[in-house]
Amino acid sequence: MLPEFAFIGRSNVGKSSLINLLTEKKDLAKVSDLPGKTKLINFFTINGTWSLVDLPGYGYAHVAKTERQLFNTAVRDYLSHRPTLRRTFVLIDSRHEPQEMDLKFVHWMGTHSLPFALIFTKIDKQAAQHSRNTIDRFRAAMAKSTDAQPPVFASSSTTKSGRAEILAFIAGALPAHNAPKPFTGAPMMNHPRRPPSTPVGDEMAGDDLDD
Ligand code: GDP
Repeated sequence: MLPEFAFIGRSNVGKSSLINLLTEKKDLAKVSDLPGKTKLINFFTINGTWSLVDLPGYGYAHVAKTERQLFNTAVRDYLSHRPTLRRTFVLIDSRHEPQEMDLKFVHWMGTHSLPFALIFTKIDKQAAQHSRNTIDRFRAAMAKSTDAQPPVFASSSTTKSGRAEILAFIAGALPAHNAPKPFTGAPMMNHPRRPPSTPVGDEMAGDDLDD
């Protein structure tokens, strides 16, 4: 199975726009829903090398007192038990003060040691300094409840800002044998040979969530 990168955020955060920006709707093939689970989780294969996982928004309940109210059970199960999930991108609106739902969600990710990154969306909507302040305040609020230090991106589906950085980050997280290898025409004399006993693909073992 391909490495998976999931995208989640509150409704209206700009997730659909960001997914369209990242994929430019090219090579976007919906693969499958989790069998027997929910149609809420959608998988798309990108360039045959990774899967983009579109997760439903969280925090519909006005005040999410319990984990059950914070997000869908199938989403929680996917996030916490998926060996092929490499990282979850948590989308946050760059215009607003830290929101309780977002903080609760990243706290939950942190307490379960699940790797995530933050993407602050819609940065074209205000001055750059405003976005920087939002990001700083969110980081400060987050630091009160988790030790996680996720990578941070800022994006705009209008100006395409952030697209290259996010895609480069994903490419850098893919296992080397998923990336196309350039043919140089020269024998690869400097590369150590794989011992005959090592099965192909063994280097993936145990390399699922801990990066
Ligand atoms: P979703 O509900 O999280 O999938 O959010 P959408 O992608 O549907 O976006 C919600 C609204 O925000 C729509 O009106 C979008 O046009 C707008 N929007 C999303 N991303 C951006 C952005 O980067 N810049 C601006 N200016 N508007 C955005």
